[in-house]
Amino acid sequence: MKVLVINCGSSSIKYKLYHFPKKKLLAKGLIDRIGARGGAAKSHSHGTKLVFQSLLKQGAIRGLDEISVIGHRVVHGAENFRKPTIINNRVIKKIKECSKLAPLHNPANLAGILGCKKLLPKVVQVAVFDTAFHQTIPESAYMYAVPERFYKKYKVRKYGFHGTSHQFIAQQAAKVLKKPLNKLKLITCHLGNGCSVTAVDRAKSVDTSMGFTPLEGLVMGTRCGDIDVAAVFYIMQKAKLSIGRMDNILNKESGLLGVSRISNDIRPIRKKAKKGNPLAKLALGMFIYRIEKYIGAYLLALGGADAVCFTAGIGENCPDITNRIKKDIKKLTNNKTKVLIIHTDEELMIADHAYHLAKKR
Ligand code: ADP
Repeated sequence: MKVLVINCGSSSIKYKLYHFPKKKLLAKGLIDRIGARGGAAKSHSHGTKLVFQSLLKQGAIRGLDEISVIGHRVVHGAENFRKPTIINNRVIKKIKECSKLAPLHNPANLAGILGCKKLLPKVVQVAVFDTAFHQTIPESAYMYAVPERFYKKYKVRKYGFHGTSHQFIAQQAAKVLKKPLNKLKLITCHLGNGCSVTAVDRAKSVDTSMGFTPLEGLVMGTRCGDIDVAAVFYIMQKAKLSIGRMDNILNKESGLLGVSRISNDIRPIRKKAKKGNPLAKLALGMFIYRIEKYIGAYLLALGGADAVCFTAGIGENCPDITNRIKKDIKKLTNNKTKVLIIHTDEELMIADHAYHLAKKR
């Protein structure tokens, strides 16, 4: 069975084609700069057409009818979706409803779904939500301590993101530890450009560092993570900034980039920190301290952990950072908590969900 995974970002489409059940990667590609002058695709709908053309050109398929199921990454499922779901008109309507919570992402995800539906109306399509894995987080952890009417009226609460990656890492950790996932307590750290930590108690997410949006929690490439909102009001007042401008500063100009004034990429920051650059050292120190703070909190929330797992660009490739945290975890837990580095593969996880749902059908 050939399973296609489509990951539509605001201006790009990443795709991977797998052969199941062997989980063999047959082809992959990227259509970027969608809608930009000189870009290959005018729109997401045009972009999806190019995906199929490229698969034919690469010889990965001989005809569109070889594709049995398509899995789509959908960023926000709010409280509507607790697990991967076969797409029908009702599901499309609900994904559209969630767009107000993720105005940059969900419309792009939806455009990819509609583009595929137009070309392959009979093929099973599955939506896999970044938020779904975190729908098991209890009320006491997902509510914000503001008047409850804002939850009732506007659905303001913690949702969490990177759910597909955290779930995949938890499953892989169970394989490495040779124990069933429903017997393990794990802390999974996804450290890429976006960063988040999740507490996984016997296969269920019970808390995560990202919140109502991906802005909350860790220091990230360009996001500030946790901050006193009163400081935000103060900056806006003093610097006479609009809501839109401040939103942009906190999401796109802060984090490692904002503190180091070097880059959102950790590599040049590490280089300059080694040479003694004080802002690079500060950015790295803040980055590591915030991760440790969350791991410490989740160790208490879970009552200890079998393992702390690191993944994504930084988690997988920066032993100088992960070894420092590892040393502190070992000291605190008397060597009881293992530290694992695990490669994440969100597309494979999406393909796996799509395959199993299509097979059940
Ligand atoms: P995204 O969240 O965009 O998928 P990644 O998971 O690729 O991002 O993570 C990006 C971060 O990982 C950047 O800070 C980058 O410097 C770092 N990174 C990626 N590859 C390496 C590597 N080989 N060595 C060190 N750092 C890396």
